[in-house]
Amino acid sequence: MVMGDLVREVDVAVVGGGPGGYTAAFRCAELGLETVVVDAAKRLGGACLFEGCIPSKALLHVAAVLGEAERARDFGVDFGEPRISLDALSKWKSERVVGKLARGLAGVAKAKNVDVVGGRAVFEDSRRLRVEGDEPQVVVFKHAIIATGSAPSPLPGLTLQSERIMDSTAALEVPDVPDRLLVVGGGYIGLELGQVYAALGSKVRVVEMADGLLPGVDRDLVQPLARRCEKLFTSILLKTRVSSLGETGRGIEVRLGDETLLFDRVLVAVGRRAQTQGLGLETTRVRTNERGVIAVDDRCRTDDQRIYSVGDVTGEPMLAHRAMRQGRVAAEAISGRAVAFDNVAVPAVVFTDPEVAWCGLTEAEAQRTSRPVKIAKFQWAASGRAATLGRSDGLTKVLADPDSGRVVGVGIVGPGAGELIAEAALAIEAALTVEDLAATIHTHPTLAETLMEAAEHLLH
Ligand code: FAD
Ligand code: NAD
Repeated sequence: MVMGDLVREVDVAVVGGGPGGYTAAFRCAELGLETVVVDAAKRLGGACLFEGCIPSKALLHVAAVLGEAERARDFGVDFGEPRISLDALSKWKSERVVGKLARGLAGVAKAKNVDVVGGRAVFEDSRRLRVEGDEPQVVVFKHAIIATGSAPSPLPGLTLQSERIMDSTAALEVPDVPDRLLVVGGGYIGLELGQVYAALGSKVRVVEMADGLLPGVDRDLVQPLARRCEKLFTSILLKTRVSSLGETGRGIEVRLGDETLLFDRVLVAVGRRAQTQGLGLETTRVRTNERGVIAVDDRCRTDDQRIYSVGDVTGEPMLAHRAMRQGRVAAEAISGRAVAFDNVAVPAVVFTDPEVAWCGLTEAEAQRTSRPVKIAKFQWAASGRAATLGRSDGLTKVLADPDSGRVVGVGIVGPGAGELIAEAALAIEAALTVEDLAATIHTHPTLAETLMEAAEHLLH
Protein backbone atom coordinates (compact mmCIF):
# COMPACT_ATOMS: atom_id res chain seq x y z
CA MET A 1 0.00 0.00 0.00
CA VAL A 2 1.28 3.50 -0.84
CA MET A 3 0.77 6.31 1.72
CA GLY A 4 -2.18 8.46 0.74
CA ASP A 5 -4.03 5.71 -1.15
CA LEU A 6 -7.79 5.75 -0.72
CA VAL A 7 -8.69 2.73 1.41
CA ARG A 8 -12.17 1.26 1.36
CA GLU A 9 -13.47 -1.63 3.46
CA VAL A 10 -16.21 -3.87 2.10
CA ASP A 11 -17.81 -7.21 2.83
CA VAL A 12 -17.26 -8.50 -0.71
CA ALA A 13 -14.91 -7.35 -3.47
CA VAL A 14 -15.83 -8.82 -6.86
CA VAL A 15 -13.04 -8.71 -9.43
CA GLY A 16 -14.49 -8.60 -12.94
CA GLY A 17 -17.90 -7.33 -14.02
CA GLY A 18 -18.91 -10.05 -16.50
CA PRO A 19 -21.96 -12.31 -16.06
CA GLY A 20 -20.25 -14.27 -13.26
CA GLY A 21 -19.13 -11.13 -11.47
CA TYR A 22 -22.29 -9.03 -11.78
CA THR A 23 -24.58 -11.94 -10.86
CA ALA A 24 -22.47 -12.58 -7.75
CA ALA A 25 -22.39 -8.88 -6.86
CA PHE A 26 -26.15 -8.40 -7.27
CA ARG A 27 -26.88 -11.47 -5.14
CA CYS A 28 -24.40 -10.36 -2.45
CA ALA A 29 -26.13 -6.98 -2.30
CA GLU A 30 -29.57 -8.64 -2.06
CA LEU A 31 -28.24 -10.66 0.86
CA GLY A 32 -27.23 -7.48 2.69
CA LEU A 33 -23.48 -7.58 2.00
CA GLU A 34 -21.68 -4.35 1.14
CA THR A 35 -20.26 -5.12 -2.28
CA VAL A 36 -17.95 -3.44 -4.76
CA VAL A 37 -17.11 -4.60 -8.29
CA VAL A 38 -13.67 -3.77 -9.70
CA ASP A 39 -13.69 -3.97 -13.47
CA ALA A 40 -10.86 -3.01 -15.79
CA ALA A 41 -13.35 -1.39 -18.19
CA LYS A 42 -15.49 0.19 -15.38
CA ARG A 43 -18.67 -1.36 -16.67
CA LEU A 44 -20.83 -4.40 -16.11
CA GLY A 45 -21.35 -6.98 -18.84
CA GLY A 46 -17.87 -8.36 -19.47
CA ALA A 47 -16.95 -10.38 -22.53
CA CYS A 48 -20.50 -11.70 -22.80
CA LEU A 49 -22.15 -8.32 -23.35
CA PHE A 50 -19.42 -6.37 -25.13
CA GLU A 51 -17.45 -8.94 -27.14
CA GLY A 52 -19.22 -12.29 -26.91
CA CYS A 53 -22.71 -13.71 -26.57
CA ILE A 54 -24.78 -10.61 -27.22
CA PRO A 55 -23.05 -8.95 -30.21
CA SER A 56 -22.50 -12.34 -31.85
CA LYS A 57 -26.16 -13.27 -31.45
CA ALA A 58 -27.22 -9.88 -32.82
CA LEU A 59 -25.10 -10.55 -35.93
CA LEU A 60 -26.39 -14.12 -36.16
CA HIS A 61 -29.94 -12.76 -36.13
CA VAL A 62 -29.04 -10.66 -39.15
CA ALA A 63 -27.54 -13.74 -40.83
CA ALA A 64 -30.72 -15.70 -40.02
CA VAL A 65 -32.92 -13.02 -41.58
CA LEU A 66 -30.77 -13.11 -44.73
CA GLY A 67 -30.97 -16.92 -44.75
CA GLU A 68 -34.77 -16.89 -44.31
CA ALA A 69 -35.16 -14.34 -47.10
CA GLU A 70 -33.19 -16.65 -49.38
CA ARG A 71 -35.24 -19.70 -48.35
CA ALA A 72 -38.46 -17.76 -48.97
CA ARG A 73 -37.78 -18.19 -52.72
CA ASP A 74 -38.69 -21.88 -52.18
CA PHE A 75 -42.27 -20.89 -51.46
CA GLY A 76 -42.54 -18.18 -54.03
CA VAL A 77 -41.50 -15.04 -52.21
CA ASP A 78 -38.56 -13.08 -53.62
CA PHE A 79 -37.29 -10.07 -51.70
CA GLY A 80 -34.57 -9.44 -54.29
CA GLU A 81 -30.88 -9.02 -53.53
CA PRO A 82 -30.29 -7.67 -50.02
CA ARG A 83 -28.45 -4.37 -49.61
CA ILE A 84 -26.50 -4.19 -46.38
CA SER A 85 -25.42 -0.97 -44.66
CA LEU A 86 -22.57 -1.88 -42.30
CA ASP A 87 -22.86 1.52 -40.59
CA ALA A 88 -26.53 1.00 -39.75
CA LEU A 89 -25.87 -2.60 -38.70
CA SER A 90 -23.03 -1.56 -36.42
CA LYS A 91 -25.09 1.28 -34.89
CA TRP A 92 -28.02 -1.05 -34.20
CA LYS A 93 -25.75 -3.66 -32.60
CA SER A 94 -23.80 -1.19 -30.47
CA GLU A 95 -26.54 1.19 -29.40
CA ARG A 96 -29.88 -0.58 -29.56
CA VAL A 97 -28.65 -3.99 -28.42
CA VAL A 98 -25.39 -3.80 -26.43
CA GLY A 99 -25.77 -0.19 -25.23
CA LYS A 100 -29.35 -0.72 -24.05
CA LEU A 101 -28.42 -3.83 -22.05
CA ALA A 102 -25.33 -2.11 -20.59
CA ARG A 103 -27.45 0.80 -19.39
CA GLY A 104 -29.86 -1.72 -17.87
CA LEU A 105 -27.08 -3.43 -15.89
CA ALA A 106 -25.70 -0.08 -14.69
CA GLY A 107 -29.22 0.80 -13.50
CA VAL A 108 -29.59 -2.46 -11.59
CA ALA A 109 -26.19 -1.90 -9.92
CA LYS A 110 -27.27 1.57 -8.83
CA ALA A 111 -30.60 0.31 -7.51
CA LYS A 112 -28.86 -2.41 -5.51
CA ASN A 113 -26.15 -0.06 -4.26
CA VAL A 114 -23.33 -2.00 -5.92
CA ASP A 115 -20.44 0.35 -6.66
CA VAL A 116 -18.42 -0.28 -9.85
CA VAL A 117 -14.80 0.87 -9.61
CA GLY A 118 -12.75 1.21 -12.80
CA GLY A 119 -9.25 -0.29 -12.86
CA ARG A 120 -7.19 -3.46 -12.74
CA ALA A 121 -7.29 -5.35 -9.47
CA VAL A 122 -4.10 -6.86 -8.08
CA PHE A 123 -4.19 -8.91 -4.87
CA GLU A 124 -1.77 -7.76 -2.14
CA ASP A 125 -2.73 -10.59 0.21
CA SER A 126 -5.78 -12.60 1.24
CA ARG A 127 -7.50 -9.52 2.70
CA ARG A 128 -6.78 -6.68 0.33
CA LEU A 129 -6.40 -5.77 -3.28
CA ARG A 130 -4.97 -2.76 -5.05
CA VAL A 131 -6.85 -1.09 -7.85
CA GLU A 132 -4.55 0.27 -10.57
CA GLY A 133 -5.77 2.72 -13.18
CA ASP A 134 -8.18 5.65 -13.23
CA GLU A 135 -9.55 5.16 -9.72
CA PRO A 136 -6.54 3.96 -7.68
CA GLN A 137 -7.42 2.67 -4.24
CA VAL A 138 -6.98 -0.21 -1.87
CA VAL A 139 -9.98 -2.41 -1.17
CA VAL A 140 -9.93 -4.32 2.11
CA PHE A 141 -12.39 -7.20 1.93
CA LYS A 142 -13.87 -9.89 4.12
CA HIS A 143 -14.37 -12.01 1.00
CA ALA A 144 -13.38 -11.66 -2.64
CA ILE A 145 -14.84 -13.27 -5.75
CA ILE A 146 -12.51 -13.57 -8.74
CA ALA A 147 -14.47 -13.40 -12.00
CA THR A 148 -11.84 -12.18 -14.43
CA GLY A 149 -13.05 -14.38 -17.29
CA SER A 150 -11.06 -15.45 -20.31
CA ALA A 151 -9.35 -14.04 -23.40
CA PRO A 152 -8.83 -15.41 -26.92
CA SER A 153 -5.94 -17.87 -27.28
CA PRO A 154 -3.38 -16.93 -29.92
CA LEU A 155 -2.31 -19.31 -32.67
CA PRO A 156 0.60 -21.19 -31.13
CA GLY A 157 3.92 -20.36 -32.77
CA LEU A 158 2.44 -17.88 -35.26
CA THR A 159 2.74 -14.33 -34.04
CA LEU A 160 2.14 -12.11 -37.06
CA GLN A 161 0.84 -8.69 -36.01
CA SER A 162 -1.56 -7.36 -38.60
CA GLU A 163 -4.89 -5.55 -38.68
CA ARG A 164 -6.02 -8.21 -41.11
CA ILE A 165 -5.68 -10.90 -38.43
CA MET A 166 -8.67 -10.74 -36.13
CA ASP A 167 -9.68 -12.38 -32.89
CA SER A 168 -13.40 -12.67 -32.11
CA THR A 169 -13.49 -9.19 -30.52
CA ALA A 170 -12.16 -7.55 -33.69
CA ALA A 171 -14.37 -9.70 -35.94
CA LEU A 172 -17.51 -8.68 -34.02
CA GLU A 173 -16.80 -5.06 -35.00
CA VAL A 174 -17.30 -6.11 -38.65
CA PRO A 175 -14.80 -3.52 -39.90
CA ASP A 176 -15.66 -4.58 -43.47
CA VAL A 177 -16.92 -7.60 -45.38
CA PRO A 178 -13.67 -9.16 -46.63
CA ASP A 179 -13.86 -10.85 -49.99
CA ARG A 180 -11.79 -13.85 -48.79
CA LEU A 181 -11.92 -14.76 -45.10
CA LEU A 182 -10.02 -17.60 -43.48
CA VAL A 183 -11.44 -18.88 -40.20
CA VAL A 184 -8.95 -20.85 -38.12
CA GLY A 185 -10.88 -23.15 -35.77
CA GLY A 186 -14.15 -24.95 -36.50
CA GLY A 187 -15.53 -24.59 -32.96
CA TYR A 188 -18.23 -22.34 -31.50
CA ILE A 189 -16.78 -19.01 -32.61
CA GLY A 190 -15.39 -20.12 -35.95
CA LEU A 191 -18.75 -21.51 -37.07
CA GLU A 192 -20.95 -18.77 -35.59
CA LEU A 193 -18.87 -15.89 -36.97
CA GLY A 194 -17.97 -17.80 -40.14
CA GLN A 195 -21.70 -18.04 -40.88
CA VAL A 196 -22.18 -14.32 -40.14
CA TYR A 197 -19.47 -13.29 -42.60
CA ALA A 198 -20.67 -15.81 -45.21
CA ALA A 199 -24.21 -14.38 -44.93
CA LEU A 200 -22.83 -10.85 -45.36
CA GLY A 201 -21.08 -11.94 -48.57
CA SER A 202 -17.54 -13.15 -47.70
CA LYS A 203 -16.06 -16.25 -49.28
CA VAL A 204 -15.24 -18.18 -46.13
CA ARG A 205 -12.80 -21.04 -45.73
CA VAL A 206 -12.60 -22.87 -42.42
CA VAL A 207 -9.53 -24.75 -41.26
CA GLU A 208 -9.90 -27.15 -38.32
CA MET A 209 -7.18 -29.36 -36.90
CA ALA A 210 -9.56 -32.11 -35.68
CA ASP A 211 -11.24 -34.59 -38.04
CA GLY A 212 -14.64 -32.89 -37.80
CA LEU A 213 -16.34 -29.59 -36.98
CA LEU A 214 -17.25 -29.03 -33.32
CA PRO A 215 -15.03 -31.84 -32.05
CA GLY A 216 -16.50 -33.44 -28.95
CA VAL A 217 -20.13 -32.93 -30.02
CA ASP A 218 -22.12 -36.01 -31.16
CA ARG A 219 -21.57 -36.51 -34.91
CA ASP A 220 -25.26 -36.99 -35.76
CA LEU A 221 -25.97 -33.56 -34.26
CA VAL A 222 -23.11 -31.91 -36.16
CA GLN A 223 -23.98 -33.50 -39.53
CA PRO A 224 -26.89 -31.18 -40.54
CA LEU A 225 -24.80 -28.17 -39.52
CA ALA A 226 -21.79 -29.48 -41.46
CA ARG A 227 -23.99 -29.89 -44.55
CA ARG A 228 -25.23 -26.29 -44.25
CA CYS A 229 -21.65 -25.05 -43.75
CA GLU A 230 -20.53 -26.94 -46.87
CA LYS A 231 -23.09 -24.90 -48.83
CA LEU A 232 -22.28 -21.57 -47.16
CA PHE A 233 -18.49 -21.83 -47.08
CA THR A 234 -16.03 -22.07 -49.96
CA SER A 235 -14.26 -24.94 -48.24
CA ILE A 236 -13.80 -26.72 -44.94
CA LEU A 237 -10.33 -28.18 -44.38
CA LEU A 238 -10.26 -30.80 -41.64
CA LYS A 239 -7.21 -32.36 -40.00
CA THR A 240 -5.29 -29.29 -41.16
CA ARG A 241 -3.28 -26.63 -39.35
CA VAL A 242 -1.93 -23.30 -40.46
CA SER A 243 1.82 -23.75 -40.79
CA SER A 244 2.78 -20.16 -41.66
CA LEU A 245 1.31 -16.70 -42.01
CA GLY A 246 2.84 -13.77 -43.89
CA GLU A 247 1.58 -10.33 -44.90
CA THR A 248 1.96 -9.08 -48.45
CA GLY A 249 0.61 -5.83 -49.90
CA ARG A 250 -2.46 -7.73 -51.10
CA GLY A 251 -3.39 -9.65 -47.98
CA ILE A 252 -2.33 -12.49 -45.69
CA GLU A 253 -0.58 -15.44 -47.28
CA VAL A 254 -1.41 -18.60 -45.41
CA ARG A 255 0.25 -21.97 -45.71
CA LEU A 256 -2.41 -24.65 -45.27
CA GLY A 257 -1.32 -28.25 -45.73
CA ASP A 258 0.55 -28.24 -49.04
CA GLU A 259 -0.99 -25.10 -50.54
CA THR A 260 -0.53 -21.37 -49.99
CA LEU A 261 -3.61 -19.18 -50.23
CA LEU A 262 -4.21 -15.44 -50.02
CA PHE A 263 -6.85 -13.95 -47.73
CA ASP A 264 -8.10 -10.42 -47.07
CA ARG A 265 -8.67 -11.25 -43.41
CA VAL A 266 -8.05 -14.15 -41.02
CA LEU A 267 -10.19 -14.87 -37.96
CA VAL A 268 -8.37 -16.87 -35.29
CA ALA A 269 -10.83 -18.79 -33.08
CA VAL A 270 -8.85 -21.61 -31.47
CA GLY A 271 -10.20 -21.44 -27.92
CA ARG A 272 -9.94 -19.15 -24.90
CA ARG A 273 -7.67 -19.08 -21.86
CA ALA A 274 -8.31 -18.10 -18.25
CA GLN A 275 -7.26 -14.56 -17.27
CA THR A 276 -5.16 -14.87 -14.11
CA GLN A 277 -1.89 -13.29 -15.20
CA GLY A 278 -0.89 -10.24 -13.20
CA LEU A 279 -3.66 -10.74 -10.62
CA GLY A 280 -1.17 -11.15 -7.77
CA LEU A 281 -2.52 -14.58 -6.86
CA GLU A 282 0.92 -15.58 -5.58
CA THR A 283 0.22 -13.33 -2.57
CA THR A 284 -2.80 -15.49 -1.69
CA ARG A 285 -3.41 -19.22 -1.30
CA VAL A 286 -5.46 -19.38 -4.53
CA ARG A 287 -4.23 -22.30 -6.63
CA THR A 288 -4.19 -22.40 -10.42
CA ASN A 289 -3.27 -25.18 -12.85
CA GLU A 290 -0.62 -24.92 -15.58
CA ARG A 291 -3.13 -23.14 -17.84
CA GLY A 292 -3.91 -20.49 -15.22
CA VAL A 293 -7.34 -21.98 -14.42
CA ILE A 294 -8.39 -21.36 -10.79
CA ALA A 295 -9.28 -24.49 -8.78
CA VAL A 296 -12.58 -24.23 -6.86
CA ASP A 297 -14.75 -26.58 -4.82
CA ASP A 298 -18.48 -27.11 -5.31
CA ARG A 299 -19.20 -23.87 -3.42
CA CYS A 300 -16.88 -21.99 -5.81
CA ARG A 301 -14.35 -21.49 -3.01
CA THR A 302 -10.64 -21.47 -3.88
CA ASP A 303 -7.92 -22.92 -1.65
CA ASP A 304 -7.91 -19.53 0.08
CA GLN A 305 -10.81 -19.54 2.58
CA ARG A 306 -11.71 -15.90 1.94
CA ILE A 307 -11.54 -16.01 -1.84
CA TYR A 308 -14.10 -17.49 -4.21
CA SER A 309 -13.98 -17.69 -7.99
CA VAL A 310 -16.59 -18.09 -10.73
CA GLY A 311 -16.95 -18.16 -14.50
CA ASP A 312 -14.47 -18.74 -17.32
CA VAL A 313 -11.45 -18.22 -15.06
CA THR A 314 -12.46 -21.49 -13.32
CA GLY A 315 -12.27 -23.44 -16.60
CA GLU A 316 -14.61 -25.35 -18.89
CA PRO A 317 -17.30 -25.11 -19.97
CA MET A 318 -16.68 -21.41 -20.58
CA LEU A 319 -20.31 -20.39 -20.88
CA ALA A 320 -22.13 -17.34 -19.54
CA HIS A 321 -25.02 -19.25 -17.94
CA ARG A 322 -22.56 -21.42 -15.99
CA ALA A 323 -20.77 -18.27 -14.82
CA MET A 324 -24.08 -16.79 -13.67
CA ARG A 325 -25.12 -19.87 -11.72
CA GLN A 326 -21.69 -20.04 -10.08
CA GLY A 327 -22.00 -16.33 -9.23
CA ARG A 328 -25.21 -16.98 -7.28
CA VAL A 329 -23.67 -19.99 -5.55
CA ALA A 330 -20.58 -18.03 -4.46
CA ALA A 331 -22.66 -15.13 -3.14
CA GLU A 332 -24.98 -17.41 -1.17
CA ALA A 333 -22.07 -19.49 0.18
CA ILE A 334 -20.39 -16.30 1.42
CA SER A 335 -23.60 -15.22 3.14
CA GLY A 336 -23.64 -18.55 4.99
CA ARG A 337 -26.36 -20.36 3.05
CA ALA A 338 -26.17 -24.09 2.43
CA VAL A 339 -25.66 -24.09 -1.34
CA ALA A 340 -23.53 -25.87 -3.93
CA PHE A 341 -22.87 -25.78 -7.65
CA ASP A 342 -24.36 -29.23 -8.02
CA ASN A 343 -26.13 -28.86 -11.33
CA VAL A 344 -26.33 -32.10 -13.25
CA ALA A 345 -26.52 -30.47 -16.65
CA VAL A 346 -24.91 -27.35 -18.11
CA PRO A 347 -26.70 -26.92 -21.44
CA ALA A 348 -24.68 -25.78 -24.45
CA VAL A 349 -25.86 -24.16 -27.66
CA VAL A 350 -24.04 -23.32 -30.87
CA PHE A 351 -26.19 -20.56 -32.37
CA THR A 352 -25.51 -21.42 -35.99
CA ASP A 353 -27.96 -22.28 -38.75
CA PRO A 354 -29.11 -24.89 -37.80
CA GLU A 355 -28.56 -24.52 -34.07
CA VAL A 356 -26.93 -27.39 -32.20
CA ALA A 357 -27.76 -27.86 -28.50
CA TRP A 358 -27.09 -30.54 -25.95
CA CYS A 359 -27.13 -31.13 -22.22
CA GLY A 360 -26.36 -33.89 -19.76
CA LEU A 361 -24.78 -37.08 -21.07
CA THR A 362 -23.81 -37.17 -24.75
CA GLU A 363 -23.87 -40.34 -26.84
CA ALA A 364 -20.10 -40.05 -27.39
CA GLU A 365 -19.50 -39.80 -23.64
CA ALA A 366 -21.80 -42.78 -22.96
CA GLN A 367 -19.79 -44.83 -25.48
CA ARG A 368 -16.45 -43.65 -24.15
CA THR A 369 -17.35 -44.60 -20.59
CA SER A 370 -19.28 -47.76 -21.59
CA ARG A 371 -22.29 -46.45 -19.71
CA PRO A 372 -25.45 -48.35 -20.69
CA VAL A 373 -28.14 -46.03 -22.06
CA LYS A 374 -31.31 -46.30 -24.10
CA ILE A 375 -31.34 -43.84 -27.00
CA ALA A 376 -34.20 -42.61 -29.17
CA LYS A 377 -33.71 -40.35 -32.18
CA PHE A 378 -36.63 -38.45 -33.65
CA GLN A 379 -35.97 -37.11 -37.14
CA TRP A 380 -37.66 -33.79 -37.83
CA ALA A 381 -38.75 -35.11 -41.24
CA ALA A 382 -41.70 -36.52 -39.26
CA SER A 383 -42.47 -33.22 -37.49
CA GLY A 384 -45.44 -31.21 -38.77
CA ARG A 385 -44.01 -27.96 -37.41
CA ALA A 386 -40.63 -28.57 -39.06
CA ALA A 387 -42.42 -29.14 -42.40
CA THR A 388 -44.31 -25.83 -42.10
CA LEU A 389 -40.99 -24.08 -41.50
CA GLY A 390 -39.36 -25.82 -44.44
CA ARG A 391 -36.79 -27.22 -42.00
CA SER A 392 -37.06 -30.99 -41.88
CA ASP A 393 -33.32 -31.51 -41.45
CA GLY A 394 -33.39 -31.49 -37.63
CA LEU A 395 -32.98 -34.25 -35.07
CA THR A 396 -33.98 -34.65 -31.43
CA LYS A 397 -32.20 -37.33 -29.42
CA VAL A 398 -33.03 -38.45 -25.89
CA LEU A 399 -30.76 -40.65 -23.76
CA ALA A 400 -32.28 -42.47 -20.79
CA ASP A 401 -31.01 -44.65 -17.99
CA PRO A 402 -32.22 -48.20 -18.83
CA ASP A 403 -33.06 -49.09 -15.21
CA SER A 404 -34.73 -45.96 -13.83
CA GLY A 405 -36.01 -44.56 -17.12
CA ARG A 406 -34.60 -41.17 -16.13
CA VAL A 407 -33.66 -38.72 -18.87
CA VAL A 408 -29.88 -38.38 -18.64
CA GLY A 409 -29.02 -36.53 -21.84
CA VAL A 410 -30.58 -34.70 -24.76
CA GLY A 411 -29.16 -33.47 -28.06
CA ILE A 412 -31.02 -31.35 -30.60
CA VAL A 413 -30.07 -29.93 -33.98
CA GLY A 414 -32.39 -27.65 -35.91
CA PRO A 415 -33.67 -24.09 -35.84
CA GLY A 416 -34.69 -23.12 -32.31
CA ALA A 417 -32.66 -25.94 -30.69
CA GLY A 418 -31.21 -23.34 -28.31
CA GLU A 419 -34.68 -22.64 -26.89
CA LEU A 420 -35.84 -26.27 -26.95
CA ILE A 421 -32.91 -27.45 -24.84
CA ALA A 422 -34.29 -25.58 -21.81
CA GLU A 423 -37.03 -28.21 -21.39
CA ALA A 424 -34.39 -30.95 -21.56
CA ALA A 425 -32.23 -29.23 -18.94
CA LEU A 426 -35.24 -28.99 -16.62
CA ALA A 427 -36.12 -32.66 -17.19
CA ILE A 428 -32.57 -33.77 -16.34
CA GLU A 429 -32.18 -31.44 -13.37
CA ALA A 430 -35.55 -32.52 -11.94
CA ALA A 431 -34.71 -36.23 -12.54
CA LEU A 432 -37.78 -36.71 -14.74
CA THR A 433 -38.31 -40.00 -16.56
CA VAL A 434 -39.05 -40.52 -20.23
CA GLU A 435 -42.57 -41.40 -19.13
CA ASP A 436 -42.95 -37.92 -17.56
CA LEU A 437 -41.74 -36.33 -20.77
CA ALA A 438 -43.98 -38.50 -22.96
CA ALA A 439 -47.07 -37.93 -20.78
CA THR A 440 -46.69 -34.15 -20.71
CA ILE A 441 -49.00 -32.51 -23.23
CA HIS A 442 -46.90 -30.50 -25.68
CA THR A 443 -48.64 -27.90 -27.85
CA HIS A 444 -49.21 -28.86 -31.47
CA PRO A 445 -47.74 -28.15 -33.92
CA THR A 446 -44.43 -27.24 -32.29
CA LEU A 447 -40.84 -28.37 -32.45
CA ALA A 448 -41.05 -29.10 -28.71
CA GLU A 449 -43.23 -32.08 -29.61
CA THR A 450 -40.10 -33.77 -30.96
CA LEU A 451 -38.91 -34.20 -27.35
CA MET A 452 -42.18 -35.87 -26.40
CA GLU A 453 -42.02 -38.06 -29.52
CA ALA A 454 -38.44 -39.17 -28.82
CA ALA A 455 -39.42 -39.95 -25.21
CA GLU A 456 -42.41 -41.98 -26.43
CA HIS A 457 -40.10 -44.12 -28.58
CA LEU A 458 -38.20 -45.05 -25.44
CA LEU A 459 -41.36 -46.36 -23.78
CA HIS A 460 -41.81 -49.10 -26.38
P1 FAD B 1 -16.05 -12.23 -18.59
O1 FAD B 1 -17.35 -12.03 -19.24
O2 FAD B 1 -14.86 -12.54 -19.44
O3 FAD B 1 -15.76 -10.92 -17.75
C1 FAD B 1 -14.55 -10.72 -17.08
C2 FAD B 1 -14.42 -9.26 -16.71
O4 FAD B 1 -13.30 -9.13 -15.84
C3 FAD B 1 -14.16 -8.34 -17.90
O5 FAD B 1 -15.05 -7.25 -17.85
C4 FAD B 1 -12.71 -7.88 -17.70
O6 FAD B 1 -12.50 -6.56 -18.13
C5 FAD B 1 -12.57 -7.98 -16.19
N1 FAD B 1 -11.20 -8.18 -15.69
C6 FAD B 1 -10.29 -9.10 -16.08
N2 FAD B 1 -9.17 -9.01 -15.34
C7 FAD B 1 -9.38 -8.00 -14.45
C8 FAD B 1 -8.61 -7.43 -13.41
N3 FAD B 1 -7.39 -7.86 -13.10
N4 FAD B 1 -9.13 -6.40 -12.71
C9 FAD B 1 -10.37 -5.93 -12.99
N5 FAD B 1 -11.14 -6.45 -13.95
C10 FAD B 1 -10.66 -7.47 -14.67
N6 FAD B 1 -21.37 -17.97 -23.77
C11 FAD B 1 -22.66 -18.39 -23.77
O7 FAD B 1 -23.11 -18.94 -22.76
N7 FAD B 1 -23.47 -18.19 -24.85
C12 FAD B 1 -23.02 -17.59 -25.98
O8 FAD B 1 -23.78 -17.42 -26.93
C13 FAD B 1 -21.68 -17.16 -26.02
N8 FAD B 1 -21.19 -16.55 -27.11
C14 FAD B 1 -19.89 -16.13 -27.11
C15 FAD B 1 -19.41 -15.51 -28.27
C16 FAD B 1 -18.10 -15.07 -28.31
C17 FAD B 1 -17.58 -14.40 -29.57
C18 FAD B 1 -17.27 -15.22 -27.16
C19 FAD B 1 -15.85 -14.71 -27.19
C20 FAD B 1 -17.74 -15.82 -26.03
C21 FAD B 1 -19.06 -16.29 -26.00
N9 FAD B 1 -19.58 -16.92 -24.86
C22 FAD B 1 -20.87 -17.37 -24.87
C23 FAD B 1 -18.78 -17.13 -23.65
C24 FAD B 1 -19.11 -16.03 -22.60
O9 FAD B 1 -18.85 -14.77 -23.15
C25 FAD B 1 -18.29 -16.26 -21.35
O10 FAD B 1 -18.50 -17.59 -20.88
C26 FAD B 1 -18.68 -15.30 -20.25
O11 FAD B 1 -18.53 -13.95 -20.66
C27 FAD B 1 -17.85 -15.55 -19.00
O12 FAD B 1 -18.21 -14.67 -18.01
P2 FAD B 1 -17.22 -14.29 -16.83
O13 FAD B 1 -18.01 -13.48 -15.88
O14 FAD B 1 -16.52 -15.48 -16.35
O15 FAD B 1 -16.08 -13.37 -17.50
P1 NAD C 1 -13.64 -23.88 -29.31
O1 NAD C 1 -12.90 -24.66 -28.32
O2 NAD C 1 -15.11 -23.98 -29.36
O3 NAD C 1 -13.12 -24.20 -30.78
C1 NAD C 1 -11.78 -24.08 -31.13
C2 NAD C 1 -11.54 -24.99 -32.32
O4 NAD C 1 -10.27 -24.68 -32.85
C3 NAD C 1 -11.54 -26.46 -31.94
O5 NAD C 1 -12.40 -27.14 -32.83
C4 NAD C 1 -10.09 -26.88 -32.10
O6 NAD C 1 -9.95 -28.21 -32.51
C5 NAD C 1 -9.63 -25.90 -33.16
N1 NAD C 1 -8.20 -25.60 -33.15
C6 NAD C 1 -7.40 -25.39 -32.07
N2 NAD C 1 -6.14 -25.10 -32.48
C7 NAD C 1 -6.15 -25.10 -33.84
C8 NAD C 1 -5.18 -24.87 -34.84
N3 NAD C 1 -3.93 -24.53 -34.52
N4 NAD C 1 -5.53 -24.98 -36.13
C9 NAD C 1 -6.81 -25.32 -36.47
N5 NAD C 1 -7.78 -25.55 -35.56
C10 NAD C 1 -7.47 -25.43 -34.26
O7 NAD C 1 -13.15 -22.36 -29.07
P2 NAD C 1 -13.69 -20.99 -29.69
O8 NAD C 1 -14.54 -21.23 -30.88
O9 NAD C 1 -12.50 -20.11 -29.80
O10 NAD C 1 -14.60 -20.45 -28.52
C11 NAD C 1 -14.05 -20.28 -27.21
C12 NAD C 1 -15.07 -20.58 -26.16
O11 NAD C 1 -16.00 -19.50 -26.08
C13 NAD C 1 -15.93 -21.81 -26.45
O12 NAD C 1 -15.29 -22.99 -26.06
C14 NAD C 1 -17.13 -21.53 -25.60
O13 NAD C 1 -16.85 -21.88 -24.27
C15 NAD C 1 -17.27 -20.01 -25.71
N6 NAD C 1 -18.25 -19.67 -26.74
C16 NAD C 1 -19.54 -20.09 -26.58
C17 NAD C 1 -20.50 -19.78 -27.53
C18 NAD C 1 -21.91 -20.24 -27.32
O14 NAD C 1 -22.23 -20.62 -26.20
N7 NAD C 1 -22.74 -20.25 -28.34
C19 NAD C 1 -20.15 -19.06 -28.67
C20 NAD C 1 -18.84 -18.66 -28.81
C21 NAD C 1 -17.90 -18.96 -27.84
